Amino acid sequence: MTESSSRPTRVAVLGASGRMGAAACASVEGAEDLELVARIGRGDPLGAVAEAGAEVAIDLTIPSATGENVRWLVEHGIHAVVGTTGWTEKGLAELRAQLDGADGIGVLIAPNFAIGAVLTMRFAEIAARYYESAEIIEMHHPDKLDAPSGTATHTAAAIARGRAAGGLGPVPDATEKDPAGARGAVVDGIHVHAVRQRGLVAHEVVQFGGVGEQFTVRHDSFDRISFMPGVLLGVREVAAHPGLTVGLDGYMDLG
Ligand code: NAP
Repeated sequence: MTESSSRPTRVAVLGASGRMGAAACASVEGAEDLELVARIGRGDPLGAVAEAGAEVAIDLTIPSATGENVRWLVEHGIHAVVGTTGWTEKGLAELRAQLDGADGIGVLIAPNFAIGAVLTMRFAEIAARYYESAEIIEMHHPDKLDAPSGTATHTAAAIARGRAAGGLGPVPDATEKDPAGARGAVVDGIHVHAVRQRGLVAHEVVQFGGVGEQFTVRHDSFDRISFMPGVLLGVREVAAHPGLTVGLDGYMDLG
């Protein structure tokens, strides 16, 4: 519901015919406090979002479209909840600058809407300082275009922050010869292994090792429906968070 009245918040979905967009439309339609007022596909004019009176728009499109979409939404005073990947530091900086001049408009860019994936990153950061060794295995469907996943990259950064806070140095690794890259990618000093396999959706294992013990944090998204509670959380909270928030954890009380 909006703050000023008991009527439902009006929501538009951009990329409404896509896999995520269709799931988001169904979730918005199933929520009593939200009303789906526009389904926007490729080629539809963005003007329809404003004409429908949308207060919040969910962008689940493609990397080459999302920047322009969000710029337009902010220009028209519409809050944005963005799940589309591919945002660069430059794009984020330009958006921040635009939001500085926008009155009370909020934008959430969430690389991962799954609550469990967000918790995995947080738990990994907490655990990192206590273990000498840490590695990440991310597993996805074979149609995924990028590797390692954005979530794995963010998790590696979180582990690196935790290790730095705990005064830990590099992870121990005596490997001298690895011509085939068997040790995986190295992101912020953390080895990341990417598996691409039919049947998978999105999965992450963070494996910590100390003398005589192993500690594992694991998250599995078995279906795109797992992203929807996070999408709805974003839609409900975005107006209360003016400016740019990157990561759903910005709307969660994780201490
Ligand atoms: P998808 O099935 O390919 O859907 C993308 C949709 O966007 C397609 O229907 C496409 O139309 C449409 N589209 C393209 N340009 C558009 C534009 N300018 N305006 C409106 N619609 C446009 O992809 P998906 O699996 O749903 O994923 C969508 C995005 O979400 C991707 O960037 C993906 O990486 C990301 N994602 C994020 C999360 C998260 O938790 N944050 C989770 C999963 C996926 P056409 O079919 O005509 O091209």
